[in-house]
Amino acid sequence: MHAAIRLPQRIPNLNLTIYEKNPEIGGTWYENRYPGVACDVPAHSYTLIYEPNPEWSEFYASGQEILRYLQRVADKYDIRKYMKFNHKCLGGTWNEEKGKWKVEIEGPDGKKLSDECDVLITATGILNNWKWPDIPGLDSFKGTRVHSAVWPEDLDLSGQNVAVIGNGSSAIQIIPRLQKIVNRLDAYARGTTWISPPLAGSKVEEHNPGGGNSNSPPKNITNIVTFEEEQIRKWKQDKAAFDQFRREIEYEQHLSYKALLQGTEDQKAGEAFFTDMMKKKLEKKPEIFEQLLPSFPPGCRRLTPGPGYLEALVQPNVDFIKTKIKQIHPDGIETEDGKIRKVDVIVCATGFDVSGQKYIPLTGRNGVKINDKWAKQPVAYNSFAVDEFPNCFITAGPNITLSNGNLILMFEKVVEYAAKSIKKMQREGIKVMVVKKEAVDDWKEYCDNFFPRTVFATKVFR
Ligand SMILES: Cc1cc2nc3c(=O)[nH]c(=O)nc-3n(C[C@H](O)[C@H](O)[C@H](O)COP(=O)(O)OP(=O)(O)OC[C@H]3O[C@@H](n4cnc5c(N)ncnc54)[C@H](O)[C@@H]3O)c2cc1C
Repeated sequence: MHAAIRLPQRIPNLNLTIYEKNPEIGGTWYENRYPGVACDVPAHSYTLIYEPNPEWSEFYASGQEILRYLQRVADKYDIRKYMKFNHKCLGGTWNEEKGKWKVEIEGPDGKKLSDECDVLITATGILNNWKWPDIPGLDSFKGTRVHSAVWPEDLDLSGQNVAVIGNGSSAIQIIPRLQKIVNRLDAYARGTTWISPPLAGSKVEEHNPGGGNSNSPPKNITNIVTFEEEQIRKWKQDKAAFDQFRREIEYEQHLSYKALLQGTEDQKAGEAFFTDMMKKKLEKKPEIFEQLLPSFPPGCRRLTPGPGYLEALVQPNVDFIKTKIKQIHPDGIETEDGKIRKVDVIVCATGFDVSGQKYIPLTGRNGVKINDKWAKQPVAYNSFAVDEFPNCFITAGPNITLSNGNLILMFEKVVEYAAKSIKKMQREGIKVMVVKKEAVDDWKEYCDNFFPRTVFATKVFR
């Protein structure tokens, strides 16, 4: 979306075509519709930097609210005219002689077509390839089976016996919602996880004391941190005050960066705070605390605030199951201890395939394939440029994800860089622009030296 807005603004004579496999804009927020889907960073920072939204009704806006925001912005900038919906890009091949990319597309009717471009930007996201978990017998299940990433619109789970497999970001958002309406919920957790206090927590305290996962006693007994109509009205009237609020939110989020550096006082204090908060919330079932507590430091995996998750786990209608699943039967799930729990519904909140192998197939110079090049380790200069892949920019490349803030900001920067590069090509008549291998190697060396200092380099034992 940002590319569709910014590129024509920066390069007025640009001929832009965007191939989108879905029938509508929104990406992550169009696809993910499971109960409780929401951003896990403050919504006021999860916006395009030039399109602030004083109207967010919640601190962690729901997926539906984010989708409405994106649709409104798309209308405002009239960007749908660049988009060919229901067109899936199957891959691209660089033609050195022409200095162009040839892209293969599958149209809405399944017909294949191709297109050519001087510059290719892949903005295919990170979390698109959802997959069923590899559990014996999954296909034999006779009840309802759903994956969090393709949630059926009219699925009503009220009064049902439900198993949720997974304890990653999606499960952490789904479980508090389902717990309230189902008869029984079996929460199968393979790994351990940190549940974090909110990023920019002081703002939560200001607006909903005790909300989110803060440690102070709740005033209005809610985990959903909302903004009052009155507050929204004030922000709409007073742009300076609203800008200041956004700045503070952004600043406070990024302060937590210090806690991502291994062995620092901030890191130790953060870990102690998280541990204490989780222990308190799991007081009623302390065995869950023991089973959930990770051996790796907070931030090693993306932090999940998960308001209401720990509270849901201690409810009488929830069983937290850490024993490994052995197999799935037509009517339930068997764990390795031989216990079979019968259920009506299995929710697979087991996430996405994020391995470099599944990147959209691109063939660069001399027939080099990106998935071969990245087989051992995906590397891209500044996360967006790959040697042997000229005139190509990747918005969500290796190492772009951050643990202490929103990703939109990062993608915006990549698009700005691409816009500058395209302008330079136009201005100076440059046919081919490609990052040097030495620059990529230097970047890799920098990363290889930087990351061991951070919590990201900690080993995760399941
Ligand atoms: C449940 C969930 C919660 C999240 N919460 C947060 C959060 O709180 N904060 C945060 O920073 N990030 C969050 N993320 C990460 C989120 O993916 C990014 O923030 C952001 O939405 C990514 O934007 P994107 O445009 O790069 O990718 P996407 O939103 O995934 O969009 C990619 C688009 O490319 C299209 N596409 C993909 N492949 C093809 C193809 N071959 N041909 C044509 N079109 C294609 C897709 O249909 C999609 O529309 C979350 C992700 C999920 C799944």
